[in-house]
Amino acid sequence: MQMHDILRQDPEIWRLFTCAEEYNETFRDSYDRFPHYMSNNREPFEPRASRHLAEQGYRPEYPDGQPFAVCLTHDIDSVYRSVLSKGYAALSSLKNGNFTKALASAKQVRSKKLPWFNFSEIMALEEKYGARSSFYFLALAPGDQDYAYDVRDLEEEIGAIADAGWEVGLHGGHRAYCDPEALAAEKRRLEAVLGRPVVGYRNHYLRFRVPETWEHLSRAGFRYDTTFGYADCAGFRNGMCHPFKPYDLRAGREIDILEIPLTIMDCTLDQYMRLDAGKAWEVTRRLIDATERCRGVITILWHNTYMEGERLKFYEKILRYCREKGAWMASGEEIWESLYK
Ligand SMILES: [Zn+2]
Repeated sequence: MQMHDILRQDPEIWRLFTCAEEYNETFRDSYDRFPHYMSNNREPFEPRASRHLAEQGYRPEYPDGQPFAVCLTHDIDSVYRSVLSKGYAALSSLKNGNFTKALASAKQVRSKKLPWFNFSEIMALEEKYGARSSFYFLALAPGDQDYAYDVRDLEEEIGAIADAGWEVGLHGGHRAYCDPEALAAEKRRLEAVLGRPVVGYRNHYLRFRVPETWEHLSRAGFRYDTTFGYADCAGFRNGMCHPFKPYDLRAGREIDILEIPLTIMDCTLDQYMRLDAGKAWEVTRRLIDATERCRGVITILWHNTYMEGERLKFYEKILRYCREKGAWMASGEEIWESLYK
């Protein structure tokens, strides 16, 4: 039986799965997001829809018989330290004025050893645990909100990530989730650097509208999205810890894209939920264990700027814990391929 047919058997589960409450919601936060505090889903740590699927015999298989999967992801919001990024923005405007000498000196200032140029360190750490991940890059134009780097300057780094077998996906900007033209322009920009079609997507600030963003992404040619989670609370937004094809309640049909729902964003734990390291781990472990019980996929978002000190140790703790459980730790693209290609 198809996943949707099983979920429809229980009207309450179907409402949860399809995010029925979000269709009528009038209040959205200043980033146009549906916050968890407005939701009727008072059990965000329980994958209720996925549990129903598992009880009805839904049993996804992963490579080498691994019991569940971890989708590891990194949003690349910045690659330069803030002081330098201000200088870089100024220099970028010089670049637009064709002051090529100014640009040449800017390139000397921009050492690749700067802390947030840490892609190879992240990959080396993950490799130690037999894991791979996805890197989502912004592909904004000068003048766009949060334009912090030009993706065309990262051709070497992006090539190295892709050549190593990690994924490069698009981190859509502030407008991309609701503006198909912005979305297409950003996709083209990244593909010109990557030299191949982009498969995976996550929107900046987790900006997302049910069901419109899925429709836009599907039409733009993305194969999966992994934006769908709450910024203000870790957990399972629609009770799912399995990747799924979304269902458009207005059009009454399935949307042709895979959602790999986001479960834990790093800054959700400390900045939104205000958890100390001990409590943050308690929640994280609980979500991993719940995913394991359903043979699901738990998606972790750890920014490249969270890869130092105690935050880096926390990320490594996740890798260690999941490896001990024998989980398959992979990029979004690998998970999409294993399920649908
Ligand atoms: Zn972002």
